[in-house]
This record gives sequence, structure tokens and C-alpha cells, in this order.
Amino acid sequence: MSDLFIDSKFIVSGFTCNKVIKQGGILIENNEIVAVGKVEDVKKLVSGHDKLERKNHIAIPSLVNSHTHIPETLLRGICDNEKLMTWLNDYIWPFERQMTSEDAYYGTLLGCLELIESGTSGFIDQYFYAESIEKAAKEAKIRALICPSVFDNTPESGSLENTWRHVSNLLNNKFQNKNELVNFGIGPHAPYTVPEDYIYRVKDLALKNSLPIHIHLNETKREVEEALENFGMSPIEYVHKLGLTEGKILAAHCVDTSNKDWKIMKETDFTVLHNPQSNLKMTSGIAPIHSYLDLGIKVTVGTDGNASNNDLGMLEEISTAAMLQKYKSNNPKVLENSQALQLGTVNGMKALGVNSNGISNNSIADITILSLERSHSWPQNNILSNIIYSSSSSDVTDLIINGKIVYENKKHKTLNKERILEQCSKISERIITGMGK
Ligand SMILES: [Zn+2]
Repeated sequence: MSDLFIDSKFIVSGFTCNKVIKQGGILIENNEIVAVGKVEDVKKLVSGHDKLERKNHIAIPSLVNSHTHIPETLLRGICDNEKLMTWLNDYIWPFERQMTSEDAYYGTLLGCLELIESGTSGFIDQYFYAESIEKAAKEAKIRALICPSVFDNTPESGSLENTWRHVSNLLNNKFQNKNELVNFGIGPHAPYTVPEDYIYRVKDLALKNSLPIHIHLNETKREVEEALENFGMSPIEYVHKLGLTEGKILAAHCVDTSNKDWKIMKETDFTVLHNPQSNLKMTSGIAPIHSYLDLGIKVTVGTDGNASNNDLGMLEEISTAAMLQKYKSNNPKVLENSQALQLGTVNGMKALGVNSNGISNNSIADITILSLERSHSWPQNNILSNIIYSSSSSDVTDLIINGKIVYENKKHKTLNKERILEQCSKISERIITGMGK
């Protein structure tokens, strides 16, 4: 039975997440929402559906984490207080050099546990060991857009040329299938790590196979200054000049941008993957997403990898995004509650390639349920405000992905949590001991 009736105290409905239904009901058949409204009306349509009674809860469209490096869960907490180059050279890269494909598989399973527990139904990833990530995501029954990194000196393939051979071979044998939970894109790391001829190769492969292009752009002021020196233009202008923007661009960060960049971002198929907590922790700055939204540029929210965040909690990330935009624009009116929720949910689904209208009739059934039982959720004067500013990832009780319950009453239905936690602790310990830390 995959048909389900949800009875919830509140439902956040509509593709702009602005309609709150009190005492609501949702009817799901196969992977689709077929009815949403007042519980007494929806109840009349129930016949033999499984029931999920959530009388003290809120149902919201599922969260989507639009920028991750998912096996980095294994690196959680290994370095918090260093500058970028020390962080990379002394901690991140030495750890990654010892990571095997099996380690990446378990690291991804841990990431999937964390995503599911925090109400996230999909993630957009860029990392090596794509096949390990695929295997784990399929076991978790979570949505994933896996974008294998094009990057020099990876533990999986070594040199850039070998990595290219591996990635292009892999992607030539994968075809986009909108009905699948797991799909593929391509992940040229950044213009400062991927030489021009490989950017051209990425472009050709992406256009040929209709692959979204997941890339880091304009993350820091220093990166932009170096691009101006090396290419005579910003990273966004540079990839545009090389024709990469003929494809669908999923661009992480976009912190330091100019009017020229904004024109490109507006006129091409360009989505900004905004990572506010990682940008703060790495002292990269605050991306002006309120300006992007005013211009009609597409924006989603992600956490970035666990090595730089250090968690995958999207509710906290949305809250940080909203507060930072108010501060940056000196205007408390920007990024109001429903818009903040839309960035982390419906917009993320669109970046994943799923045409979602949130909790609405005929929309894909990806739903997150939050408990209102803890004191921080009382009183409920404004439910959208409760979600953005008072709730936390640990309020999540249930998660429905593509019409199937994968997390019910805080119990995993697809993964063996105990085994994964134990295995990941062993892997991290082995690698850290090998690093001499
Ligand atoms: Zn990143």
C-alpha cells in the first residue's frame, strides 16, 4: 500500500509556501498529492489509505539541501579554526587522500541518516566516488543529483586526465530519468582548479547528455581578484565566455559578484546555491541573495560539506539565510517567512530537476512533518514564523519521499542507523590515526 492520508494540526500549502491550513488533511496516491485541504473535507475521500495522525504537528514541503560534499560527514569536526589554505593542506586533503570508495559509501550513508532526520528529501552533491554515493542514496531511498567532481589529484582516479576519463565514461553511461530518485550532473570544481580545455570538455559532455553543471563560483573576494588577474574577468564572466552557461548552471556561493555577473546570472539558466553558514565560518562573506531575488535570479539554500559547516540541518540554514539578508540589506522586510521557506524547499526541488508545487494538488509527495511538542514551538501565533525562527532539525518526526515514508515517528525505515554510526566512527579513527593527528 503506497496510499496515505495525513491528518496534521497545520499544513503549509501552495508553491510559494504562503497558505497555512489549520486542522488539515493531505491525501497521497502513489507518489502524488491528490487532495489537500481542511481535514473534514479530505477525510471524505479516504478509502483504505494508510493513516498518519499528526495532531500536534506541522506538515511542510520537504527540504532540499542544494550543495553538499556528502562523504565529508567522515571529516566532521577535524578542523574548525584555521584559514582556508591551512584547512585544506593540513586537514581536508590529507584526510581525503586516505579515503577509499567503501569509506565514501559509509560516509554517504551517514549523510543520508542526517538528511533524513532533519527532514531533507534530496541533495545536490559534488564529490569523487560517485558510484559509492549512488549506491548509498539508492539504499536510503532519498533524492540525489550526483555531480562527480572534475578535479586534480583525487584519491579515486589521481590526475585530472584520469579523473576526466573516469567521469566522462561514467556519465556517458548514465541517462537522465525524471522518474528516478537518483540522477546525475557534472561537477567541474571551480575555474581556479579546472583548466580551460577541461571546461570546454565539461561543456560538450553536459550539452550532449543534458547534464546540469554543479560548480563553485565567486566564493571569495580573493578568488575574484585572482580571476581578474589571470583571466581579466570574474569567474562567472569567465565560464560564460567559455560557453559553459549554455547548460544549466548550479553555482555554489556567488558571494562576491558585480553588475556584469548579475546580468549573466539573470539571462542564462543559472541557479545560485546559497550556503550562508559555510560562508560565515570560512569568512567568505554574505552573498547578496535579496538582490538576486529582486532581479528574478533563481536561488536555493544548501549547507556545503560537513567539513565546513559542520551539519546538514536545513531549517537552521534557512533561518541563518533570512537573518543575514536582513542584516546585509539593513532592511528587516527582505526575505519574509514564506519566501525563506520556498528557497529551502520548492526552489531546491526545481534545482534537483523535480517540478514541485509544494503541498498542492497534483504535486510530487515529498513532505516533512515537524513536531510542535517542544516548548520553543509555543504559542503558535504565526506558524511560518515558528518554522523559520523557532524550530530546529530535531523537531522533525516524519519524512515522506516520492509518496513513501522513509522516516516515521523518528525511526528510519530504509537504513540501519546503529551499524552505519559504528562503521563511520571506525573509518574516521583509522584515517585520523594514519594522518598522525
Ligand atoms: Zn562546496
